[in-house]
Amino acid sequence: MSDATGRPPVQAVTFDFWNTIVAESAIGASRGSRISGELATHDVQATPEQVAAAFDSGWEWFVGRWKANEHTTTRESVAVSLSHLPVPVNDDSVVDAVTALVVAGSDPATITLAPGIGNCLETLASAGVQLGIICDVGMTPSTTLRGYLDHHGLLQHFSHWSFSDEVGCYKPDPRIFAHAAEGLGQPDPSRTAHVGDLRRTDVAGAQGVGWTAVRYHGLSDDPRDVGPEGDVVVAHHDDLPGVLGIS
Ligand SMILES: [Mg+2]
Repeated sequence: MSDATGRPPVQAVTFDFWNTIVAESAIGASRGSRISGELATHDVQATPEQVAAAFDSGWEWFVGRWKANEHTTTRESVAVSLSHLPVPVNDDSVVDAVTALVVAGSDPATITLAPGIGNCLETLASAGVQLGIICDVGMTPSTTLRGYLDHHGLLQHFSHWSFSDEVGCYKPDPRIFAHAAEGLGQPDPSRTAHVGDLRRTDVAGAQGVGWTAVRYHGLSDDPRDVGPEGDVVVAHHDDLPGVLGIS
């Protein structure tokens, strides 16, 4: 049996995190009010809306760094965000306190998983497929993201993780894919697939190293003009094992 691309069944599959395993929209909704409250304890007055706007600006700054493949820490993104608020310059204690809040993340119970991801991972793992994660970390660090997966019983399915804050570069840099391949025991590239929602990072990155690129658009449909199309396109994780040659 071969997969939807005519290749033999996969030996290893890596997954993107945001909008592939976990819905990105679930994050950050309460961040403005939590940070506003923290700032008040440092005598910095900013409404939740002002905090949200400042973090939107900080996120734009991060995206520029991300696209330039310039590795960026949570603390750096927080510091840039706070520079848009009346925070005393050079007051490390405020940046440290807000960074700690961002690192703590959201209540994992409020995280929304992609439909069918649990069954999909179980099916692949029980067929002997090696599973990994290749994730570009934004503001929430990998230690927190692992906690989200663990809370929902998904972490156990993965044998390796390549988070950008541990590898030091972002997709589509081939080094982060090489890090994953090494951790997964150097599977045959033609029998390795990466599943993700973004064309510029997930699809282009996987194709660049000769893997099967699966574009998953069940949570977010990336615009056509921002990068290549996947070798395989799926709307629901229920379809993934079958198109990868795993029944
Ligand atoms: Mg994503």
